[in-house]
This record gives sequence, C-alpha cells and structure tokens, in this order.
Amino acid sequence: MLRLLLLFLAALDVNLSTDTLKQGEILYISVGSDEPGLVSFYYRGAPYHLVPYNDRLVAMIGTSYNTNPGRKPIRIVFRQGLTEEVLDTFVYVVSTNFRKSVITLPPSKQHTIDASEQERKNREYEEVVQILNAPSGTFYSLLPEMFPCAKKISGTYGDERWTNGRKLWNHSGLDLAVAEGTPILAPCAGMVVMARDTFIRQGTFVILDHGMGLKSLYYHMIERSVEDGDLVQAGDTLGFVGSTGIATGPHLHMGLNVHGVPVDPLFWLERKEPF
Ligand SMILES: [Zn+2]
Repeated sequence: MLRLLLLFLAALDVNLSTDTLKQGEILYISVGSDEPGLVSFYYRGAPYHLVPYNDRLVAMIGTSYNTNPGRKPIRIVFRQGLTEEVLDTFVYVVSTNFRKSVITLPPSKQHTIDASEQERKNREYEEVVQILNAPSGTFYSLLPEMFPCAKKISGTYGDERWTNGRKLWNHSGLDLAVAEGTPILAPCAGMVVMARDTFIRQGTFVILDHGMGLKSLYYHMIERSVEDGDLVQAGDTLGFVGSTGIATGPHLHMGLNVHGVPVDPLFWLERKEPF
C-alpha cells in the first residue's frame, strides 16, 4: 500500500493499493478528506469517477495483456473554493509471463468458418464490446463476496494461443471447469445489462454491471435464470454451467471489465482488502 499525503491543505490523503502492477491487475485508489472540497482523479490524463465508499472516495483502474508496460501518470486535484492543489504521482505496469499454448493447424483446416458465420460472430462480438464499453449505471457493489462456482481453474487469464507462428489472442477471462448444471452465482450485487442465447462464441451468457465501470460476464451457460434489467444480489443464481457457444466441454468462462479493460477475474475474486 502506497500512502501519499497532500500537505498543502493537510486535508487530503491518498492511498494507492500498489506502485507496481502486473498486466491484468487492478489498481485500487482511495482518497480521504477531512474538509469539504471537490476531488478529481486522472489516470493517463483521462478523468475517472470517484465514488463514496466507507467514508472515502474510491476508484478502480484496470490493466490488461494489451497495456504497454511502463510508467503511468496519476493526478489528483483537490479544489476548495478558489484554492486548487494538484498531486502528481505514477504507477508502473510490468509484463506478466502469460502461459503459451500452441496449436498447429494444417492448411486445409485454416479456413473452416464460412463467411456468413464469421460475419455473425463479428457482429455479436461488437454487441458485447458495446455493452462492456457503455457507461456504468447506478453503483451497486465493487467487491466480490464469493466465487461464482467452485474454484476449479482450467484456464487462466491472459493465456496466449499461438498457431502457425502467430499469436491469435489472449484468453480474456478465467475458466472454471465444473460439472454441467452447476449454478453460477453472482459474486456481488449488480444489474443484468446483457442476457442472450445462441451467440456463436459466447453461447448463452449474462453480463452484470456493478457500477463504477465494473462489469462481469459469464459465458457458455446451459440455461440462464435472469433477464436484461434484473437486479441481483450476491449469491443469486444467474444460470447454470454448460458448454454452449465455442467450448470444448462444460465450464464457466468468467470475464471482468474495469472501464472497458479486460482484467484478471481471479485477482479481483481473491483480493481481501482492496482499499
Ligand atoms: Zn475462457
């Protein structure tokens, strides 16, 4: 935990959960103030909303396998009447050694998806991305109270899939290999912002908005129990584990997005005291 004290007004203290993040990890920021004033927070020059939490103001910043390692500037501005104080600091993002898996496809298998399927798959992907990047709604919860199902990890975040000498993609979530029909529980409160069936890749799936830019997603369900607009509490059943969409067997693919950045769900699920 990195603690910064803004001495000018002696009214503001800033906690960053770390000064060095690995790709895929989340930075947790909390700001406390003894005096009334307006606090603004900027990461890499862009403003982020701070929300009240335990008498402080907090925000989360996500990094992913696509985040370039290096120094990322942070600015906190405190305004009180006509007075304005600025605190500049930074965090480092360092590379994560993601697991590599290589598949070699013979030339005859390299173009097996027909054009219309591919077009539909792309369209569906765009729909999902749009929901993930849309502004968050009402603030419900930031912190997980439970795993969505048993912690039987079969695929980790960031895993690299290589074929024929090229990196195809990074695995954007966490795979939990539990039996078909196992209930999938909401780790914390949120609103269902996308619940669909029969998407080519995702199958039957649900996306929750927890507020403050935090969204979680659950793919490959055999059946879902919620609809768009439903409010859920921690422990509510979202659906049941299956292998719909592109999946080699029954498992839950869980993803987590912070302000549109796909982060490691396991990092979030396992962190006990983030702020
Ligand atoms: Zn997966």
